Amino acid sequence: MTESSSKTANTDYDVIIVGAGFGGLTAVHRMRELGFSVRLFEAGTDVGGTWYWNQYPGLKVDVESVEYSLSFSYVIEQEWSWSERYAGPQELCRYANFVADRLDLRRDIQLDTRIDSAEFDEDSGIWALTSNSGEKLRSRFVMMCTGMLNQPIKPQFKGLDSFEGKQYHSARWPKEGVDLSDQRVGVIGTGSSGVQIISTIASEVKHLHVFHRTPGYCLPLRNCKMPEEYSKRVKANYGEWRAAERYNSFGGWVALNYQIGELVTGSALDATPEEQQALFDERWKSGGLSFYNVYPDVYTDLEANAVLGKYLQAKIRERIKDPKLAEILTPTYPVLTKRLIAETNYYEVYEQDNVELVDLREQGIDEITPKGVRVGDTEYELDCLVFATGFDAMTGSLKAMDVRGRNGLTFAEHWDDGARTHMGLMSAGFPNLFIINAAGSPAPLFQPIILGQEQVQWVGRLLTQLAERELNCIEPSAEAEDNWGGLCEESVAATLFPLTDSWYLGNNVPGKSRTGLAYFGGMASYRQAMTDAEVCGYDGDFMLSTLPKGGN
Ligand code: NAP
Repeated sequence: MTESSSKTANTDYDVIIVGAGFGGLTAVHRMRELGFSVRLFEAGTDVGGTWYWNQYPGLKVDVESVEYSLSFSYVIEQEWSWSERYAGPQELCRYANFVADRLDLRRDIQLDTRIDSAEFDEDSGIWALTSNSGEKLRSRFVMMCTGMLNQPIKPQFKGLDSFEGKQYHSARWPKEGVDLSDQRVGVIGTGSSGVQIISTIASEVKHLHVFHRTPGYCLPLRNCKMPEEYSKRVKANYGEWRAAERYNSFGGWVALNYQIGELVTGSALDATPEEQQALFDERWKSGGLSFYNVYPDVYTDLEANAVLGKYLQAKIRERIKDPKLAEILTPTYPVLTKRLIAETNYYEVYEQDNVELVDLREQGIDEITPKGVRVGDTEYELDCLVFATGFDAMTGSLKAMDVRGRNGLTFAEHWDDGARTHMGLMSAGFPNLFIINAAGSPAPLFQPIILGQEQVQWVGRLLTQLAERELNCIEPSAEAEDNWGGLCEESVAATLFPLTDSWYLGNNVPGKSRTGLAYFGGMASYRQAMTDAEVCGYDGDFMLSTLPKGGN
């Protein structure tokens, strides 16, 4: 890259990256490959991102390990072997460490350092960042790889701080573990995190109260030791699958499904009942989230959706002996409009004498008391309270950080009425700041690990082009943001997702606007939008310039 494009006497690095998850690791490697000087800052004491922070009991990745892998390095792909079909957080962190070591990324990574603030200087076009230890850093470009599910939320129940026992959040579970034996434990929340925690701790605790509001579609993960033959077959075919299926499929994933499958096309309504049954049975047997790859109109047509919904509801009911419990635990909302929940023996846990479900559908939690949780007239006495209540997804991390763009604009202000981005990659008023895997990106039914790599590659090509054109400043126009927000709205309106409250739409956070939060048009059309921006030299939707005026 040329001297005039980014590295100046006034910067410490060309690119500062925040967050050492898979997006951040990819970014360090790519930026370095392109010849940029780079430094990554991570608040945690190790690499791994979401897998570093989320280490609660029972956690397993819900996408097959072989798919949940970085694809930009042939060496990494071939040298790493997963031990389980669905890896746990410790193995995923080992993998992140392997990537960092094998690609020699560590020398450009600073752990245990939280970036507290970032401020854009309009005259020089340089970002000034400050860490929690007071270190001051300057760079031309910033890549925020802070993740889409990173900012935990706790409902602000009355009396929350009065509880005399211990409180934990699933997303900040102590790394050394928690001894729950002989404890009376309450778990609030039965999304992916809650369900995995409940299934795992039920046999260990003295008594478990599950505070349960909306039932999810929980499906057996069917985890197992990684079959060697399967691993070999995957490695031999990785490139072909990724090119042919993942990048062009709506959901952005390969149709591996344990055996090598194909993406399903055609309408559920054109299939005979026998064909539907055969497909669904095969998915059921395969396990995990393979039901994402079924007839595409289950995402857009209520009748088609109900075909799958009824199949899964029946499967859930079969597993629950008590009819009253079955009624509470069987979901009724359109399937797939909330993320499917991958579990192991979840429903069976309710047969244990020490497990009790507290049905919150009609009567929610009134307050947290010094002794436990009160629902109506009943106080449930607890030693320990686990919040598995989710995240301020997509926007939470950047809104929580003190990031100031032009005229001191913060993300909290700019995104107050919705997530204003162009293509989920940049925001107007925040020049040279790139957002990886967060607001405005393809909706989270896709695999973030794939998306993050695509976005990093896009940023890399953009920075190279800026350098070649002797430019050093880029930001999207407000009009481009409006248009992208409009596309996000149009794309979600064409699906069934708006029929259900979920973090996909932001309505798990009181008052949060869903505008622009996520793009639901599919991975293929998202990649096309990225390519179109590149092909026209970023003109039109982006404003390009050189700062300071007249050169560095
Ligand atoms: P979540 O899906 O948002 O679930 C939050 C849970 O808390 C829901 O059951 C919700 O009930 C409940 N809740 C929230 N406020 C409540 C209140 N005031 N009273 C009672 N219940 C309340 O969060 P999550 O389970 O952490 O999962 C978030 C996402 O992270 C997942 O969808 C998935 O994408 C990802 N994840 C993946 C894995 C994996 O790879 N295995 C594991 C964990 C998470 P309502 O539904 O009624 O609002």
